[in-house]
Amino acid sequence: MRFIGFEGNQDTKNLLSSFVDRGRIPHAILIEGPQGSGRRTLAKIIAQAAVCSSGDEKPCGVCSHCRKALSGNHPDIILAGGDGSSRSFHIDAVRQLRESAYILPNEAEHKVFILAGAEGMTEQAQNALLKILEEPPKHLIFILTCESRSQLLPTIQSRTVCLTVGAVDVDLAVNAIMRILPETSPEEARQAAAVFGGIIGQAVNGISDGTFKQVVGLAPQIALAVAAPNEIDLLRLTGKIEKDKAACDGVLNTLSLIFRDALVLRSGYNSSISSSPDTAASISKLLTKGQLAALVEEVDRLKRARLSNMNQTLFVTLMCSRLREAAGR
Ligand SMILES: [Zn+2]
Repeated sequence: MRFIGFEGNQDTKNLLSSFVDRGRIPHAILIEGPQGSGRRTLAKIIAQAAVCSSGDEKPCGVCSHCRKALSGNHPDIILAGGDGSSRSFHIDAVRQLRESAYILPNEAEHKVFILAGAEGMTEQAQNALLKILEEPPKHLIFILTCESRSQLLPTIQSRTVCLTVGAVDVDLAVNAIMRILPETSPEEARQAAAVFGGIIGQAVNGISDGTFKQVVGLAPQIALAVAAPNEIDLLRLTGKIEKDKAACDGVLNTLSLIFRDALVLRSGYNSSISSSPDTAASISKLLTKGQLAALVEEVDRLKRARLSNMNQTLFVTLMCSRLREAAGR
């Protein structure tokens, strides 16, 4: 199988190839991963492979099915989904899909439904979908995308083949960022890859919309404010990311690198995985080894808590109090 435009994630590619190369694409595939990790790109590649008429490696990219799929005009590839927000994907949308699900494909061997943002499906919508997944017609393939499989009903999870996509190696991320945004310098691309945790789409968006610059300026100040005698600076600084999920994620990734550097320095070694060595050095003098280790752990815990879909303002409040506590403040 060929994966043009989808970087890294080799385990996922191997698993998918093992199905597609034998001509056995699963009837229901769930792609989980953070925003910007290429979930939709991968879904479209699988859909293209499902309609491709080549007898060789799929998708071939040149047959009439592939050309229509690439231009977004294949009648047997149907995109559906909510707007990504919670409960925006209703039962009516699934009912509409069900009506056309049992009609044979127009031209290809398969009919593919891509359901993006499946975490926005109401429970009713998921149960309606389940009815189709229980006895799918032979020609039908469902591809669902979401942040985490845990956001869907266990009955849906158990009827899908789950593929996980995520961060890619720094070098791959740097190359992809510079290909998409040619005016970016290698240094800037490397830093953006770190700030956005190796998620190419987030790094590209972050550079384009200014979030990257904001995070690079803000994160070292927030790191210092965590260790400050009183909470005022931390509240003022985090107020700037109170409504911005992408910036908040970038700040968490950067804090993780700064606190790790500070911990290594405090332990008597040299380290510079963060791009703020001066900040890390200052913090290593303000906090104990135990407090720095607690901060590294706490930032990891906060990053995992992002999957719970907590309200952004509440999350920032929680973040401030947890970080202050870990720093013994
Ligand atoms: Zn083809």
